Amino acid sequence: MEWSLAHHRLTLHHPKGEIYWVMPSGYEMPSPAIRSLAEHVLLTPFGETVEVLPADSAPGDRTAVAFSGGVDSAAVLQLVEDPLPIYTQVASPGGLHKLDNALLAVEEVGGVTIESNQDMLPKWLGKGRGFYGAAGWTTTSILLAEHFGLSTFTDGNIIEFVYLRTPNGHGTGYSPRDYSATQAAFARVGLHYGMPCAGLTEISTTKIASQYRYAMGCMRGEDGQPCLNCMKCYRKLAIQGTPIPTNNEVERAFGREWIPVLASFLWARDNHGLSHTVLDSVERDYSWVDKWYPRSIEMIPEHLRAYFLARLDDFGIAALEDDSSLVNWDSRVGGS
Ligand SMILES: [Zn+2]
Repeated sequence: MEWSLAHHRLTLHHPKGEIYWVMPSGYEMPSPAIRSLAEHVLLTPFGETVEVLPADSAPGDRTAVAFSGGVDSAAVLQLVEDPLPIYTQVASPGGLHKLDNALLAVEEVGGVTIESNQDMLPKWLGKGRGFYGAAGWTTTSILLAEHFGLSTFTDGNIIEFVYLRTPNGHGTGYSPRDYSATQAAFARVGLHYGMPCAGLTEISTTKIASQYRYAMGCMRGEDGQPCLNCMKCYRKLAIQGTPIPTNNEVERAFGREWIPVLASFLWARDNHGLSHTVLDSVERDYSWVDKWYPRSIEMIPEHLRAYFLARLDDFGIAALEDDSSLVNWDSRVGGS
C-alpha cells in the first residue's frame, strides 16, 4: 500500500480513505518492514491480508506503551522499565467524547501525543469508529519505532479482554485467545508485542496506577474531573472506594443477562459498600479478581518478565494459585 510523508504528516493511502498521523518534527519515512507491520496490525482485524516484510533487528531497545489516558495503560507505565507513553489523539472525537482528561493524563506521565484519524478506518469499512484487534492501539507506536528507538510495544489490555471475552462481552466467561500470530508478526521485524496487564483486572490496575491523578478512562469529563454519569465512572469510583449513584449506562448494562466485568463490581460491593439491586443478591466465587493470572506471562516478552514480576511484588499482588474460580467463571445473572 502507498505511504507518503509531507511536513511530518504521514499518510497511508488506503482504497477507502487516507489515514494520517501528525508525527514529531524530524520524523522520517519508516522502513518498508516497519510500514508492513503497521499495515498488518491495522488491517488484519478487517480481514485484509498483509505480508510482514522481515527485518533483522529492532531500531533500539525502549518499550512503548500505547497510552489511552485510562487506568490500565497507566498501570503498564509502572510495570515496565523506562516506558515511553504514546497517546493517539483522535482528530475529530465524536458525540460526548472529550479529550481534556486524556490530554492532562498524557502530560502527567510525560507522554507523546500524536494526532491521527486512524479511528475512522473502521467506519469506512462498515464498522463503528475505534481501534480494533489485539494490538490496534500500538499502530502509532510501531510507526515511531525508528524515530524513538523502540523494540517493544505494549498496551493496557486486561484479563477481561484477553482471557474472559465471549460474545456476551468482556469479562463474561473463560475464553482464552491465541495471540501467537500477532506476536509472530512483530518478531518477524525483530520487535516484541506485549500486554503486561493481561493477567490483571481493573482492581489491580487501579491499585498500581493510584499515583496518577488524571488517568481515569472517563471519556466525558472535563478539566480533570470525571463526569460521574457514565459506566466507567460508576465502576472506577466504586473500585476506588467511593461509590456513586447509578446512571443510565449502568442500568442498561445491569439489565442484561450477562454483566460485563461483573467480578470487579462484586469485589467493590464486598470491599467498598457498592450497592445495587442487581448486584446485591449475586453469589459467585470471584476470588481471582485481585490476583495475577500466571498463564498471562505468555503475553509478556521474555526480556520484560523479571522486572514485571518484581513490580507485581512491590504492589503486593499475588499470583492466582488455584485457577478454578477463573476458568469456571461466568457472569450470567439474570434473564431467560
Ligand atoms: Zn464518566
